[in-house]
Amino acid sequence: MQLLDPILHFHDELARIRRAIHAHPELCFEEVRTADLIARRLEEWGIPFVRGLGVTGIVGILKNGTSSKAIGLRADMDALPVQETNRFAHASRHAGKMHACGHDGHIAMLLGAAHHLANSRNFDGTVYLIFQPAEESGGGAKRMMDDGLFTRFPMEAVFGMHNWPGIPVGQFGVTPGPIMASSNEFEAIVHGRGCHAAQPHKGIDPVMVAIQIAQGWQTIISRNSNPLDAAVLSITQIHAGSATNIVPDEAVLTGTVRTFSNAVLDLIEERMRTLADCTAKGFGASVDFRFQRSYPPLVNHPEETAFAAEIMRSIVGSANVNDRVEPTMGAEDFAFMLQEKPGCYVFIGNGEGQHRDAGHGLGPCNLHNPSYDFNDALLPIGATYWVRLAESWLAA
Ligand SMILES: [Zn+2]
Ligand SMILES: [Zn+2]
Repeated sequence: MQLLDPILHFHDELARIRRAIHAHPELCFEEVRTADLIARRLEEWGIPFVRGLGVTGIVGILKNGTSSKAIGLRADMDALPVQETNRFAHASRHAGKMHACGHDGHIAMLLGAAHHLANSRNFDGTVYLIFQPAEESGGGAKRMMDDGLFTRFPMEAVFGMHNWPGIPVGQFGVTPGPIMASSNEFEAIVHGRGCHAAQPHKGIDPVMVAIQIAQGWQTIISRNSNPLDAAVLSITQIHAGSATNIVPDEAVLTGTVRTFSNAVLDLIEERMRTLADCTAKGFGASVDFRFQRSYPPLVNHPEETAFAAEIMRSIVGSANVNDRVEPTMGAEDFAFMLQEKPGCYVFIGNGEGQHRDAGHGLGPCNLHNPSYDFNDALLPIGATYWVRLAESWLAA
């Protein structure tokens, strides 16, 4: 592996930073202590920064040489509302909050890159260090953009990275095109007419209508959507009624839709609405249908992806870069940034969990799991990737 020596020498300090952040997780738009920690480090290393984009977001500004080219490197900062089951020394000190997605490690990797870039100054142009709040919910990426991320800090491209459990340490995964799905929530409230369960002919049963709607919706993926376009429609809640002998007034269906393109999403939303309306009408009921688009699909730009893959290969070797990694149906708000700017989002292997300190929880080391922990072994790998990517991209 071709890691940068000064970053390797800084590894222990980066691990200390990562663990300090892990011990003090903060939820979306509450990342004040985390942003303070980042600001203190940037200050110490002589890197100017601006705070308050997207409430708690922070942008470090590294300029060198004369080129007007600029690149953005982005790390997310927020934790999850999860009760950590790990008992090791750096476990969360705050009940019900946990860095269960490794954003503590994402911050440390970007700080590692910042420290090296500020010392070595082996680049020509501007590197924007984007520390973003509220990835897990709240769309912090969009909020930073609304606060002028790309107008106040003009950049030609922006790059993101996520640790990925199951991919071995020292390996990367990436793919051009869609790599993560859009996430969307729906709710349908079916209005029927309640009655005595022994006299169903005197009412309109919303439970049966909800069941028919649910059945109808399940034909959208199998009958309307192109089989080559991946999509998921999951009904995750059905609520109705309060007694065994009463037909209720209402039934509620909720769930999620995931797609890799906006065109498929448009089709699914339109079909869901039509089927809900027409089915309810057919039974004399009515329906309030709400479809909320949260995060768009995360679509990697081909040129920037090829460029990033080449950097990864130069660090870990061709055999350790899967440049056609299988996309995931999970979602990620970095998608908003790639709708505005060219760029690429990559997975960096976090291993299977053997790295965890004694006292870790008994569950798997998966994202959003209470037994998860970021793998400190990949801090210098991720930091080296950021540095090499910025230096090479600005020189290209
Ligand atoms: Zn997450
Ligand atoms: Zn995450």
